[in-house]
Amino acid sequence: MLQQTRVETVVPYFLRWMDAFPNVTALADAPLETVLKTWEGLGYYARARNLHRAAIVVRDQYQGQIPDDPDLLGALPGIGPYTLAAIQSLAFGRPMAVLDGNVERVLSRVLASDAPINDPKVKNGLRDLAGRLMGDTDPRVFNEAMMELGATVCLPRNPRCTLCPLHPLCRGAKTDPTRFPVKLKKKKIPVVEVGAAVTWRDPETFLIAKRHPEGLLGGMWEFPGGKREANESLVDCVKRELQEELDIRVDVKDFFLHVRHTFTHFHLSMHVFHCKWNGDAPKALDCADFRWVRFADCVKLPFGKADRQVLAALSTLADNSILPIKFSQKNNH
Ligand code: SF4
Repeated sequence: MLQQTRVETVVPYFLRWMDAFPNVTALADAPLETVLKTWEGLGYYARARNLHRAAIVVRDQYQGQIPDDPDLLGALPGIGPYTLAAIQSLAFGRPMAVLDGNVERVLSRVLASDAPINDPKVKNGLRDLAGRLMGDTDPRVFNEAMMELGATVCLPRNPRCTLCPLHPLCRGAKTDPTRFPVKLKKKKIPVVEVGAAVTWRDPETFLIAKRHPEGLLGGMWEFPGGKREANESLVDCVKRELQEELDIRVDVKDFFLHVRHTFTHFHLSMHVFHCKWNGDAPKALDCADFRWVRFADCVKLPFGKADRQVLAALSTLADNSILPIKFSQKNNH
């Protein structure tokens, strides 16, 4: 069951995941940080957090057995209509039709439907239709067949209509199938300018912060910083963010790195500066935790993609014995 993720990408992660957490109880017993670290690189970190929460509920309330009752299953964290239908049909043989992107494409083309697929009402209509088409067929076979048809025959750009068993009844194939499905145009997503700091306590030790457990990249570690306000310089942004987040003042030194990364709802444009700690004891004012670390300490901690780019650049500095900023003997403690 994959959403917005390709099979080739997931396989190595899946194998590592199953190795680390061979059953629900093992997942429930693991610290969230280990779960996030095992997921690191896949994005959509809320899914990892939800899986972990769901595993805890299954361990504590259902003796480690995933409930087959659709209401109980659907109430677990992270189980939406797609996942519910997939588990119900594939694991328990219940007649619930799965509607993933592949099935949406197949059905929109068969109907030659101009209704926008990203409208929830249209999605629900297609889900009902898939359920009616399933009829008395084995739900596992029907759902797998529909998803595979979309993944291997009714391809987004080059549908292989002559090989398709639905060709005789497909209206889309009689025109241009690639016109379907129709999507409402997405709003242009904004660029968010962010200032972030690698705050050095000495030539080898720097400060990282843990994000609050909820929301974007919740529970992951990062280089502290935040969104630049209107008319604010990046340097002032870094200073303000470190004060608000950790109650420390820093000397902002050299610009280090510009990192771009696209999230679902915005493009991140992160400007990273080397900073020198001025000695204030940090406090977790607007973060879940903080830690002074050396580069090697970060290997075991979960970071999002943008921050991993910063770590990669830091490792290049370390490999080439480049000091990030100058430290006088007095400050070098
Ligand atoms: S006939 Fe072509 S467009 Fe229609 S479902 Fe099959 S592959 Fe898709």
